[in-house]
Amino acid sequence: MVCTDQKYHILFLGPPGSGKGTYAERLAGELDLYHIATGDILREKVEKGDELAEAISSRIDKGELVPDEMIIGILKDVLSSEEILKGFSLDGFPRTMPQAKMLDAMVEEFCWDIDYIFYVWAEKDKIIERIVNRVQCENCGAVYNMEDNPPQNDSICDVCGHKMHHRPDDNKKVVQHRFEVYERDTAPVVEHYSSHPGFFKIYTGGPVGLAEAEMLSIIQGDSR
Ligand code: AMP
Repeated sequence: MVCTDQKYHILFLGPPGSGKGTYAERLAGELDLYHIATGDILREKVEKGDELAEAISSRIDKGELVPDEMIIGILKDVLSSEEILKGFSLDGFPRTMPQAKMLDAMVEEFCWDIDYIFYVWAEKDKIIERIVNRVQCENCGAVYNMEDNPPQNDSICDVCGHKMHHRPDDNKKVVQHRFEVYERDTAPVVEHYSSHPGFFKIYTGGPVGLAEAEMLSIIQGDSR
């Protein structure tokens, strides 16, 4: 089959609190892509009292991953939706090797390219500081940091005007466990994609605009 799709398909990988959500959302806005955040999809299911709500929240609250079959099923539905025609900015998936294999199979089936894989990172102490100060909109999922990227109006989301909250799994003890899970399950996924021609390692310990500009200049200056 000849692939003619010109839309961007971008993955964001990195440890908890490294900025995947922030940059995935910003690039989706800049490039008019569908922003998919698996963490937000799962939290929404919990909020709505979905039949999977209890199984999901018990994992999230402890900093464990939800089972592969569950998240793969959810992602297959999302990737089959109409919005996907815009291209996507995917954050929070894949987090395990079985998930990466499922995504690779879908890429082949749908004839997409994964154009860019931004592996975002910062020093662990900076990340923990950031996570403790992180707040998220209850409605649209927009992420802010009360220290270096606060909403304009205190506890109200700039994007949709709803209230913000602090995620219950954004506390030091659970974050420590999320790091262990990341090392065990997700670091091999980073290794898996590290030889991809669109793989870039981006430092996110500085101002938000700086890393975003770096990503956009990679995309805009790409002559592949
Ligand atoms: P995030 O908002 O990306 O930090 O995700 C929050 C939590 O949702 C994670 O700690 C996991 O419990 C769960 N989660 C999100 N994405 C995945 C995934 N791809 N596989 C398994 N669990 C996930």
